[in-house]
Amino acid sequence: MEMKDNLEKTAKQVIVSKIVGYLDKDPEKNVDNIFSAIRLLTKDKSALAQIEHVYKYYKNDKSKHDFIQDILKNTDNKCLKKFFTNFFANANWYAGPKRQKYLNEENTKIPFVMLISPSMRCPLHCKGCYASSFSKKDDIPPEEVDRIIGEARDLGIYYIIILGGEPFFNDYLLDLYEKYDDVMFTPFTSGLLLNDKIADRLKKCGNVIPMLSIEGFEEDTDARRGKGTYKKVLKAMDLLHERGILFGVSSAVTRTNINTVLSDEFTDMLIEKGSKMSWYFLFMPVNGEDNDFDMMLTGEQRDFLGKRSREIRASKPYFTIDFFNDAPYVGGCIAGKYYFHVNSKEDVEPCIFSHFSTVNLKGRHLIDAFRDPFFKKLRSIQPYNKNMLRPCMMIDNTGVIINVCRETGAKPDDYGAEKMLKDKEFHEKITKSANEFIPYAKKAWKEVFNEKGNDNFSKG
Ligand code: SF4
Repeated sequence: MEMKDNLEKTAKQVIVSKIVGYLDKDPEKNVDNIFSAIRLLTKDKSALAQIEHVYKYYKNDKSKHDFIQDILKNTDNKCLKKFFTNFFANANWYAGPKRQKYLNEENTKIPFVMLISPSMRCPLHCKGCYASSFSKKDDIPPEEVDRIIGEARDLGIYYIIILGGEPFFNDYLLDLYEKYDDVMFTPFTSGLLLNDKIADRLKKCGNVIPMLSIEGFEEDTDARRGKGTYKKVLKAMDLLHERGILFGVSSAVTRTNINTVLSDEFTDMLIEKGSKMSWYFLFMPVNGEDNDFDMMLTGEQRDFLGKRSREIRASKPYFTIDFFNDAPYVGGCIAGKYYFHVNSKEDVEPCIFSHFSTVNLKGRHLIDAFRDPFFKKLRSIQPYNKNMLRPCMMIDNTGVIINVCRETGAKPDDYGAEKMLKDKEFHEKITKSANEFIPYAKKAWKEVFNEKGNDNFSKG
């Protein structure tokens, strides 16, 4: 068995080196060769079908053709190669079988990506940011962050998203990006602390794809994040773009900024500035504040977000991810199954918005969280709804989180989560909002998805 594994690994290494060779010199002229090599590396039928899908788009759709060509031509060579080796080769082809082994041998699912918030310190105080509900004293010591990243990589997790707080507040993280140079990192940042020196180091690392937070044009961004923020984010984009560093943006979509962030004008501006993708999040009522509900999208707006995100993705040289309306593509909720979050107190939570936990990593190994009944229970009952446009255990299927916590002993680790479990009025409000979305979700599930999501993924 070991010999077979080694042979397979060597064969993969040969193909990966071949692709790296294509990326090294005139990558934009080698797209067909790159796709052919990727096909050889992919065993899984559904992954192969997805690759064919992308190839077809590349060949027949001008916007996708231009998008791929732009990335290949204008990305710094080291960043491009690291994106391929770390995100595709290491995270998928090498580490996939490693993670699968835990599943086969002990029914323990090792997620694909880890989110970690080393610190909640941030120069901004954005409305509704979940970071505001954590104590600033609770930073994870640098050596602990190092240990947790090391344990994650040993388990086969090669994609790590750094949250907080502001990731660039902590210089030592740059050292960790360098140390774990076979891992792909994505810090979600306000961009405020980015300067020439940091941008140069990111280019030198090559394995970092920052996501800059932006809530619309100047008025919307400054209203939520503070005066002067918008101009600084645009400056941060320039610093990254000039150096050929891949980056994207993330936007928390609220009742007031929805039309701006989904407009052609705003998206075209981002493309012009060099952003390669937008990640849209619904504003979530996770802080337990009453006014959270006034910022949450209405059912109609949530449906519109899905529609516009798909339209932008289909028509522009750009990639969009709508964290909720794209759920059918990944089989519904991915919490505790494909991703998880370590907060700044070292509690392991199933998702960035669900602040519930059974395992704290102080003195414990990361795998304890995946072996715990809490994560196993969540996985066993996913998807929580046949209609995968209503994936969430908190804002769609509002009783799920309460029942699972009761059954597994998971505890809320902040005030908002406590309220979600125990406050009747809060529960009624969130259920009302879930019910409002049902007719829109039903219609789109039928008309757009033909009532079919990615069942393979949903089983985990
Ligand atoms: S619990 Fe809700 S917010 Fe978290 S991953 Fe699942 S669907 Fe998304």
